[in-house]
Amino acid sequence: FIIPEFQEFCKNIEEIYWKCKDNTDGKVASYIPQLKRMSPNYWGISICTIDGQRFSVGDVAIPFTIQSCSKPLTYGIALDLLGADVVHQYVGQEPSGRNFNELILDHNKKPHNPMINAGAILICSLLKTLVGPEMTSAEKFDFTMNYFERLAGNEDMGFNNAVFLSERECADRNYALGFYMRENKCFPENSKFKECMDFYFQCCSLEVTCDQLSVIGATLANGGICPLTEEKVLKPESVRDVLSLMHSCGMYDYSGQFAFKVGVPTKSGVSGALLVVIPNVMGICLWSPPLDALGNSCRGVQFCEELIKKFNFHRYDNL
Ligand code: GLU
Repeated sequence: FIIPEFQEFCKNIEEIYWKCKDNTDGKVASYIPQLKRMSPNYWGISICTIDGQRFSVGDVAIPFTIQSCSKPLTYGIALDLLGADVVHQYVGQEPSGRNFNELILDHNKKPHNPMINAGAILICSLLKTLVGPEMTSAEKFDFTMNYFERLAGNEDMGFNNAVFLSERECADRNYALGFYMRENKCFPENSKFKECMDFYFQCCSLEVTCDQLSVIGATLANGGICPLTEEKVLKPESVRDVLSLMHSCGMYDYSGQFAFKVGVPTKSGVSGALLVVIPNVMGICLWSPPLDALGNSCRGVQFCEELIKKFNFHRYDNL
C-alpha cells in the first residue's frame, strides 16, 4: 500500500477534521441565491489513494456544484485532445496576480492561465470549436460530463439546472470577459460566443460530492489512470501540465502563498471545495462553503496547513 499505516493516517485526518470544524470564519458565496442557501456548517473530507484506499468523514455525500474545480478538468481534456501546443497558442501559463475574474489579459493579449475565468472560458471555446465541431451543444455537454464521470471512477454526476440558470443570469463579469476576449481575437475561428459561454456555465454547474471529487483527485495523482476502474482517462503529460498550473495558479490570489506554505497542487471553487492532489499518493477533497476574503474555503485552507505540519507532503519536504 502507498500509505502503509492507513488506519493510523486516517485517525490523524479525523483529528484535524474536528479541529477545523470549530473554525467559523468566512462567508458563504452569495452572488446567486442557490449558493447562498448552503449551510455554513457543512464540512467534509474525502480521501482516495492511488491504490484505491478510501476514507471520508463529515458531509461527504451531499452534492454541490463543482464550479472552478472544473477548470483543471476542462483544461486537462483540452490538452489531451488538442495537445499542449495548440492549447497554449490561446492561453498562457502565468499567474495573473489579480482577481480570478479580473478584466485583464496578458501582454500577448491572451488570458493569463486556464485556472482563472478568462482562461477557463477560452478553454471551453476550444473544446466547443476545435474538438468534434460537428457535435451539438447537447452532445458536447454529454461528452464532457462523461469525461468528468470517468475521472471520478464512472460514478454518475448531477447537473444543477437552477445554478446553471442563475450563473447565466448573473454573469455580467463573465460576459464582459468574453467580449473583451472577442474584441482581442482570443477565440478560435468559427467559435460561437453564446454557446461557448453557456458551455462554461454548464461545466461550473455539474454536481459532485466530496467522495467523487476525491476520486478525481486520485486519478490526477495517478497520472490520469483512475485507481478504481483502472481506465486511462488522461495522458500523463496532460496531467503534468494540469498539476503545474494548479500548483502556481489554483488558489485564486492566494496561489503564491499556498504554493509556498502547503506546496501541493490544489484548485478551489466558489462552492467551498478544494481539490487537492498529492502526486503519486492520493487525491483529497475538502468541502466547506464559508470562504475567506480571497475566495478559498476557510476550513479547507486550514486543513491543508495543518496537514503539512503533520505530514511531509509539501513538494520540497523530502530534500
Ligand atoms: N461560476 C463562477 C464564475 O464563473 C465560478 C467561480 C469560481 O468557482 O471561482 O464566476
